[in-house]
Amino acid sequence: MSNVSVIDAKRGLRPRPAASDANVAARLAALQDKAKGRDAHGILQLALVEEFAGKTAVVSSFGAESAVLLKLVADIDPNTPILFLNTGKLFGETLRYRDRLQDVLGLGDLRSLSPSLDERQKKDPDGTLWSRDTDACCDFRKTIPLSRALEPFQAQVTGRKRFQTRERADMLPVEYFEGRYRFNPLWQWDLHQLEAFMERNNLPRHPLVEDGYPSIGCMPCTRRVAAGEDYRAGRWAGLDKDECGIHSGIDGEGI
Ligand code: SF4
Repeated sequence: MSNVSVIDAKRGLRPRPAASDANVAARLAALQDKAKGRDAHGILQLALVEEFAGKTAVVSSFGAESAVLLKLVADIDPNTPILFLNTGKLFGETLRYRDRLQDVLGLGDLRSLSPSLDERQKKDPDGTLWSRDTDACCDFRKTIPLSRALEPFQAQVTGRKRFQTRERADMLPVEYFEGRYRFNPLWQWDLHQLEAFMERNNLPRHPLVEDGYPSIGCMPCTRRVAAGEDYRAGRWAGLDKDECGIHSGIDGEGI
């Protein structure tokens, strides 16, 4: 059993059947080759239609830029499963924005994921774990529910971009992570392109962007950003943390 499977078993997740490393590496190389020169729509087409039809889920935070990926997905297939982590610590604005985008884009298979009542009582009975151990809080509120929800899928799509963090600077349009292929159609987009796409398609904005939140996560771990600060400076401010764990790892890690 691989290290990932041991960790999954401890978390109560079913170990995934192991694919041969050589097969995975060969398919990843073939997918990366097919993704070459494609724009965001083309990469999504590769995942949702050509290679993993009916076996792909999109992960979305319904944050500041999420409308871009969701619009591109809805244009191909509005019934694509969309996985949304409702951690129990989100801004009310994010929940209302989720509902609005679902209506505007006609998203037909939006799945909200949360830790169970039992897990909340066991791991964070007073709801303040974030103030003592953000990694443990992200693990039970985000990573574990997402791992469970992804079990039936062979591929996932994320809205990650290279410009966002140091770790993401090395990402490729197709990766393999924790037992499935991962597509990043917006990998090369910058803030200007995102803004232009939102404008062109008249997409609704997350209401907190106007209020000084260019990147939006859970309420206790997100603050406003001052003029001149990095656009993700408000996420886990003051901590050496810029990822919640659900998207950690880059190309090929996990093979
Ligand atoms: S972002 Fe903060 S509140 Fe949300 S799950 Fe992670 S530590 Fe908990």
